[in-house]
Amino acid sequence: MSGIGIDNTSKKAVTEDYVRFLEMRLQELQAELQWVKKEREYYRNQVEKMMTPPLVEATVLEVLDDDRAIVKSTTGPNLVVRILGSVDREALRPGVRVALNQRGSAIVEVLPTREDPYVRAMEVIERPNVRWEDVGGLEDVKQLVREVVELPLKYPEMFKEVGIEPPKGVLLYGPPGTGKTLIAKAVAGETNATFIKLVASELAQKFVGEGARIVREVFALARKKAPSIILIDEIDAIAGKRMEVGTSGEREINRTLTQLLAELDGFDPLDRVKVIATTNRLDVIDPALLRPGRFDRIIEVPPPDYRGRLEIFRIHTRRMKLGKDVDLAYLAKITEGATGADIKAICTEAGYNAIRARRKVVKMEDFLKAVESVLKGRFRPYVQTGPSESEERHVI
Ligand code: ATP
Repeated sequence: MSGIGIDNTSKKAVTEDYVRFLEMRLQELQAELQWVKKEREYYRNQVEKMMTPPLVEATVLEVLDDDRAIVKSTTGPNLVVRILGSVDREALRPGVRVALNQRGSAIVEVLPTREDPYVRAMEVIERPNVRWEDVGGLEDVKQLVREVVELPLKYPEMFKEVGIEPPKGVLLYGPPGTGKTLIAKAVAGETNATFIKLVASELAQKFVGEGARIVREVFALARKKAPSIILIDEIDAIAGKRMEVGTSGEREINRTLTQLLAELDGFDPLDRVKVIATTNRLDVIDPALLRPGRFDRIIEVPPPDYRGRLEIFRIHTRRMKLGKDVDLAYLAKITEGATGADIKAICTEAGYNAIRARRKVVKMEDFLKAVESVLKGRFRPYVQTGPSESEERHVI
C-alpha cells in the first residue's frame, strides 16, 4: 500500500515539475514570439522604405492659398503644386525646403532646415570661467602653455623689449580625454580672452570652399574679439600629410589647410591671437604645419600619473558631499591608465549611484562601483599590501 502511495506522490511531484517546466517554456516561447513579431515588423518597415519611390526636393517660393503653393523643384522648373492635408501649414513659408511626391504634383512633407555649417563647426565662449586650478596634474604642460601662450597675451610689451617672438601656436597631442580642450579653455579664462573652438572634422566635411571660408572668418572674428584663443580640435582631420592626387574631398581638405597656413602666416605673433591645435595622431600631421612661425611648439599631454589622478579626483569631487569613508588616494591608485575624462565620469557615476540608493552623501562603495563600470575591461582590482596611502607610485 505504502509503496503505491510513494509512487503516486512522486508521480504527482514529477508531473507538477513537468507542468511548471511547460509553463516556463510557454512563457519563454511567448517572449520569443513577441521578439520575432517585432523583428518581422522592423524588416517589413525596412522593405517598405526600400520600395517607396524617392521624393523630389523643392523650395517654397510662395504659398498661394491653403491648398496650393509655388515651388522651385531641384529638378528644374517652378511648379504650382497641391499641399497634402497632413502638411503643417504653419511651417510652410517661402524659403522652406519641402518634399514633393514623385510625380512632383504635391507637397507631402516639410523638410528640416539645413544647419548652418558655420554654426556646427564652431563654438565661441567669451571669457570661459575655467582656471588653471581646474586642471589636475599636467604641471609641465601647464608651465609650457603658460610661457608660450599666456605670457605673450598678457605682457606683449615684455617680448618686444626683450626682442623675441613668441610662437603663434602650439600643438597639444595625446590620447582623448586627457584635458587638451580644458587647457585651452583655462588659458582663455586666465587671460580674459575669447575662446573660439573650431572642430576640424566638421570643416573636413564641408562643401567646396566652405571649409576655407570658415577658417578665414574664424581668424577675422578672433582679431575682432582679441585677445582670443582659437582652439582647432582634431586638426589631423584637415592637416593630414598632403597627397599629390586625390578625390575632390581631399582637394577640399587641402584648400582648408592651405587657408589655415595662410592665416597663420598672415598674423603677427604679438597680435593677441593664439592658436592651440589638438590631435590624437601626431604621426599624420603635415610637416608644413609644424614649421617655425606656425605650430612651432609641440606639447605632449599624457594620461595623468598618480598625483595627477588624485588632483583630478579632488577637482571633480569639490562640490560633492562625500562620506567619511571616501579615500581619494586609494581611488587614484586603482585607476592607473584612466584619463581625466574617465575620472570625471567616475565621479558623476558615483553621484548617480548615491542617488539610486536614495542618499545625498556619496560613499566609497558608490565610487568603487563607478570605477568598475566606467573602466570596465581596463579595471584591475588593486590589492593593498600595506598602509601605503601616501605612496606616490603604485604598481598594480
Ligand atoms: P579629446 O581629444 O577627446 O578632445 P581632450 O584631451 O580635449 O579630449 P577634454 O575635452 O579636455 O579632453 O576633457 C574632457 C573632460 O574631462 C574635461 O571637460 C574635464 O572635465 C575632464 N578632464 C580631463 N582632463 C582633466 C584634467 N587634467 N583635470 C581635470 N579635469 C580633466
